[in-house]
Formats: sequence, structure tokens, C-alpha cells
Amino acid sequence: MHKKLLIPGPTEVSTQVLQEQGRPLIGHRSKAFSELYGGITGKLTSLFELPENYQPTTTTSSGTLWFDIVGRSIVKKKALCCINGAFSKRFGEIVRSCDKPADYIEVEWGSVVKPDAIAEKLATGEYDTLTMCHNESSTGTRSPVTEVGKLLKKEVPDVVFAVDSVSSMGGDWTLPHEMGVDILFASTQKCFALPPGLAIAFVNDKALARAQEVPNRGGYTDMLEIFEFEEKHQTPFTPNVSLLYALDKRLDLMLAETYKHIYQRHLDMAELTRKWAKTHFEMVPEKGYESVTVSCIKNTLGKNVKELNQNLAERGLEISNGYGKLSEKTFRIGHMGEWTVEGIKEALAAIDEIWSLKT
Ligand SMILES: *Cc1c(COP(=O)(O)O)cnc(C)c1O
Repeated sequence: MHKKLLIPGPTEVSTQVLQEQGRPLIGHRSKAFSELYGGITGKLTSLFELPENYQPTTTTSSGTLWFDIVGRSIVKKKALCCINGAFSKRFGEIVRSCDKPADYIEVEWGSVVKPDAIAEKLATGEYDTLTMCHNESSTGTRSPVTEVGKLLKKEVPDVVFAVDSVSSMGGDWTLPHEMGVDILFASTQKCFALPPGLAIAFVNDKALARAQEVPNRGGYTDMLEIFEFEEKHQTPFTPNVSLLYALDKRLDLMLAETYKHIYQRHLDMAELTRKWAKTHFEMVPEKGYESVTVSCIKNTLGKNVKELNQNLAERGLEISNGYGKLSEKTFRIGHMGEWTVEGIKEALAAIDEIWSLKT
């Protein structure tokens, strides 16, 4: 039986969007491709209200490629990496593996690195890049990116701010210029409700100017080459054309729903899930920093999450166990993409029934 995915990626993809991938292929150096790709650029620009100094791009990769792009194309002197969970840690590790110096500010999983701590480190003048994860999917924690962006603009305007928005872009409110972020990126299998295989990124002129100064940017990770090809509405290497058809369709649907409504729907789903969680359990994130797209819940009743998923499977549903070392100690409900409040209500009612939770 088909299990509807309530996990923090991949999320459920509608048949309508899946079917777009069946269209006949076109050459990626053809006029038809430039029209398709240019259309996607226009739709991303309008959905995310990008000002003149920001450009969108779509890479055929998962979102993690952008950890490498930041490491190879952006960090010149030294990076400061904010770590509060598995994905933000991977970001820091990948920057170091690109042979670039990086210091970590690490806090307990479930909390966030506070702007004051960042300001103090950046004041040393040692750093030219700051990395952060907006929405830590391992703990369902949302970092105060906009506050940090404001601080950077005021105190250290030359530092490039690169933010992983993989599991929040397209669900939570993530307009890069409002957040004060220079590079913001995401994967298609999360809030965009598409199959995995593409990453979407927004980059501003400041980040592009930095890349000009950085040697040895690699091949697939050369951010300047990506944007040189953008000028012709093309990509440097062969893109996943089939998935671009699906993205084009999905962007039409998102524009029709409107950015505001998409955000409100995600917020409603998050508030419903948090309320349910607090009735029976506790939330993992520090209060006030709960994610809008994935709720991470402490398993305070010591329930068996693996067994729950076996039972949910019979009802055509799947949630997520805790990430890595948090398995069974926590569990996660992803409410992103095309999910609605009605769908989440049904899923929570199914969990109530299986675990005999009284409301
Ligand atoms: C899923 C996820 C990633 C990894 O994305 P891939 O598409 O697998 O590369 C990175 N960061 C966050 C916050 C995620 O949720």
C-alpha cells in the first residue's frame, strides 16, 4: 500500500506533479529549454519577491551540493559555523573538508546559537563567512536567522551569510532579502513537494563578488560558472529536465496559492501539531524556536515509535523516528509541502488511536 509521507523529506508528491516528468525530453542547449528554464527563473523571482540584486538558480543535485559550493566558492579566509544539530554540523564539516578553515559555535541540540554569541565571535574580524541552518530537521528547531542577518548588516557587512533553508524554503517565510541572507538554498523533496534531485538557491551580488576573489572553486561547485550560464537561461552541465518540468508546474500551483497562504497553511499545521504534542508529550526545541515545517517531539511516555510506524503503515501513513542518536527518544512529524490541516488532523487521530492517547 502507498504510504503517505509525513517525514521531513521526502514529502508527499501529488500525481499531477509526478506526471509532468513524463513529458518528452528536449536538449538542454535548445531554445525550448531556455524558455522552460527562463520561465522557472521568472516564477522563482516573483514567488520569493527577489529584488534586483538577488538571482535564483536550480542545480541538478540535492541541497547538500550547496554546502560544498559555499566551501569551495565563498570561504576565503575563515568561516564561522553555527551548529545545533546534525545538518548544521554537516555544513561545518563539509566546509572544513573543502580545505577551508572553519570555527564552530556549538550548542546543545534543540537550542539555537544566539545572535549575541555570534556577534562576539565575528567582532574578532577573523571571519569572512557565516553558516547557519534555518530549520534543523534533526530537532525541529528554527534559528533566528533574520535577527542574525540584521546584526551582520550593521556590524560586519563584508561577511557572507550562507544559510541552509533545505527544509523550510517554500513552507516557512523565507524571503532572502528580508532575512539578510546572501546565499539561501533548499532541496526540492522538502517543502516544494517534488521528487528529490534538484536544489534551488538564491544568491546576491555580494556573494558573487566574493566568489570572484576565491581561487580553485572546482567544477560542479564553481558558483560563478553557474551564474554565467544563468545569463543564457542554461546550466553548465546536463540538468534533470524531467524534474524541471515538474518544478515549473509546482511553481504555477504555488503562485496560484500565494506565498502568504502557503506560509499560513504551514503555520496552522505546525500549531495544531504542537498543541497535540504538548497535550501528551513535550516539544524538543527550546520554547519560541519551534519549526514551522517539522515538529520534533520528546517521547516522554516511552512509546515504541518503530511499532507505531508499522501500525501507521497499515493505514497508509508514515512518520519519522528521531534522527540518529535521538531515535525512539524523540519522533518527528513533517508537515510540509502539499499537506493540509485536515490531513494532519487525520494523522494525529490515527496516532491517538494506535497509542490509546486520550484527548
Ligand atoms: C534534508 C536536509 C538536508 C540534506 O538535504 P539533501 O537534499 O539530502 O542534500 C540538509 N539540511 C537540512 C536542514 C535538511 O532537512
